[in-house]
Amino acid sequence: MHDIAALDERDPLAPLRARFHLPEGVIYLDGNSLGPLPVAVADRVQSVVSKEWGESLIKGWNDHDWIGLPQRVGNKIGRLIGAPAGSVVAADSTSLNLVKVLSAALGLRADRKVILSDTGNFPTDLYMAQGLAGALEQDHELRLVAPDEVTSAIDESVAVLMLTEVDYRTGRKHDMKALTKKAHEVGALTIWDLAHSAGALPVDLTATQADFAIGCGYKYLNGGPGAPAFVYVRADHLNNFAPSLSGWMGHAEPFAFDLTYRPAEGIDRMLVGTPTILSMSVLDTALDIWDGISMTQVREKSLRLADIFIEEVQSRCAGHGLELLTPQEPDQRGSQVSFSCPEGYAVMQALIADGIIGDFRAPDIIRFGFTPLYLRYADSVEAAKGLERVLTERRWDKPEFLKRAKVT
Ligand SMILES: *Cc1c(COP(=O)(O)O)cnc(C)c1O
Repeated sequence: MHDIAALDERDPLAPLRARFHLPEGVIYLDGNSLGPLPVAVADRVQSVVSKEWGESLIKGWNDHDWIGLPQRVGNKIGRLIGAPAGSVVAADSTSLNLVKVLSAALGLRADRKVILSDTGNFPTDLYMAQGLAGALEQDHELRLVAPDEVTSAIDESVAVLMLTEVDYRTGRKHDMKALTKKAHEVGALTIWDLAHSAGALPVDLTATQADFAIGCGYKYLNGGPGAPAFVYVRADHLNNFAPSLSGWMGHAEPFAFDLTYRPAEGIDRMLVGTPTILSMSVLDTALDIWDGISMTQVREKSLRLADIFIEEVQSRCAGHGLELLTPQEPDQRGSQVSFSCPEGYAVMQALIADGIIGDFRAPDIIRFGFTPLYLRYADSVEAAKGLERVLTERRWDKPEFLKRAKVT
């Protein structure tokens, strides 16, 4: 099998682990849901709270350039997703950012009524599209097809192709470049949700020509629970639509206090209300970890961590009804591994009780995120051993593991 110790010794990303606080005795395979705490965050929060807010009060907006934080953080994220400076801002939640870009895209394709998405999309994206279509009252149709039928469903009725690149349940990855190209050939626009892509794998928004993108700050970017999300708009669209969420922070001159909305030039028009400086400062510091890191190296390690885990689970846990849901082709998957698993909820609770943290997604999926900044190859093996123990010893079969909590 693999020489795991040698892999860890030679791993060029290994030193980054020290930049995270990871609880003793825990193998954390849920960084795709909530990234762990970067060590440097505590000092930053202390300084923003005590020095900036505490001492500067309202002057902080200028003296500490709080007002420019959405753009500074946006540019740091932009570097990870192939977006030019000035095309990304950090703001609001992924759900809200979807409304901003979907309303812009529908406005740019006003003669068409179809929003095309797939059944693998994250439900909040679909819910927000349904809500927006209802509010617009222009007979938009949200058309859902199976993930492998998206290509053939792209036709000239489609206004907007709205997809999440990596499926949150199975880890299946769409071909963003090919789908964007096909959409453009029929005159449709594209919105890509990068919640499971940004910080997980190389993304090149410029090369793929994607029109709009959104994504999450608290998953692979480690910005903390409820961290601000981000939004990208391709440069040539930026000044061609009027934002539907027309808040004062996206106004051309917020402090002119005009009675009429006029959108700011460029990406600033995607801002709505006052930025959340405390949580945005945390995300800002978390993003510094990516300085000088090659996404190619991150991707290589992520694939290898996942491959080792898959191999180990398949050889150790045979006969327990696990079924691999994640495609094994590297270009067809993201940075997580999912199995369908009988009694999956209880199995995951028992694993978590043993210090191996993944998560569960209805109806029967156990999910493991592979995050190369702080995981070791040995963790892949230990996690598979832990799963084997839970299954063979039926450690999951206890009342406390069978009872569902609110958040799974
Ligand atoms: C996690 C996730 C979200 C979360 O949206 P919030 O508004 O931040 O709660 C949205 N879309 C996808 C694809 C996700 O994975």
